[in-house]
Amino acid sequence: MSATTGIEWTHHTFNIVWGCVRVSPGCEHCYAEGQSKRYGHAVWGPAKTTPRRVLSASYWNEPLRWNAKAAAAGERKRVFCGSMCDWAEDHPTTNAEREKLWPLIRATPWLDWLLLTKRPERIAQLLPEDWGEGYLNVRLGTSVESPEYLKRAYELHAVPSLAYFLSCEPMLASTPLRMFFSGRVRPDWDKWWVIDGGESQAGARPAELEWFRLHRDECAEYGIPYFLKQLGGHPDSRAHERAVLDHLRHVDFPVSPANAWVVYQLADDREVYGDNAGRWIITTADFETEIAGFGIMSEAVARRIVDEHNASLGGVPA
Ligand code: SF4
Repeated sequence: MSATTGIEWTHHTFNIVWGCVRVSPGCEHCYAEGQSKRYGHAVWGPAKTTPRRVLSASYWNEPLRWNAKAAAAGERKRVFCGSMCDWAEDHPTTNAEREKLWPLIRATPWLDWLLLTKRPERIAQLLPEDWGEGYLNVRLGTSVESPEYLKRAYELHAVPSLAYFLSCEPMLASTPLRMFFSGRVRPDWDKWWVIDGGESQAGARPAELEWFRLHRDECAEYGIPYFLKQLGGHPDSRAHERAVLDHLRHVDFPVSPANAWVVYQLADDREVYGDNAGRWIITTADFETEIAGFGIMSEAVARRIVDEHNASLGGVPA
């Protein structure tokens, strides 16, 4: 795949391999499978009988170039992995190639990696040793095409991550998200992003506007960014400027954890706000009216100041 993409919610696409095997009804008209066949690659099918296509060293170096450009411009870029595979598939070739992915992600801090899978139950065993609570530049995602597959959202959420997303494309049935976001999970709505879309390949199964309206309204309720990619249909997918719902386009993007504010509570009720670009503000509890200090420093330095300040006030931990 090239460095640029027609997928509106990402800047780049990257694949650790080409090839996969279908796992659910959302795969029925898999775009990547059709593309692979058109290019003459027989890489769709079970691991026992079907190879995967590996990509060149020069291809694997492309994200380093995107990262350098993003750093020079001071603008983070999103990378969707993978448009031609499922990065979490259990296939010997995919498993081997995945080993190169984590060092690449660590080497590209200006890229926000969107790792999408229909196999979220496998993620935990595939993460690198230093994953911890997640990487600042990784957003883990899973596909939810119908209520039956909302279980993937729970499986995804069982894995620690600083950011998550749901790809509800192709949406095949009305799939309320309310129970997931309000019920059994802790309220971490600021970590999420929802992307919707109808099916657009030949034989597309139609989507109802009401399905999208439901997600639009649920996301508004929980403050979750909502992106409606296309309404679906073939050959007219009603994408881009035609993905209009009740006279509006919905193209919200989430804040990267790498840009998100962190807050330390001081023992005297003041708070320290900082972002990962190294900007820090020390403020009173009433953030609106009184900024007590401002500076640029590393997180380690800010943390030390917070700890020392709290210790001087009686040792309340930040
Ligand atoms: S999991 Fe994704 S890449 Fe694999 S067959 Fe299904 S839609 Fe295609």
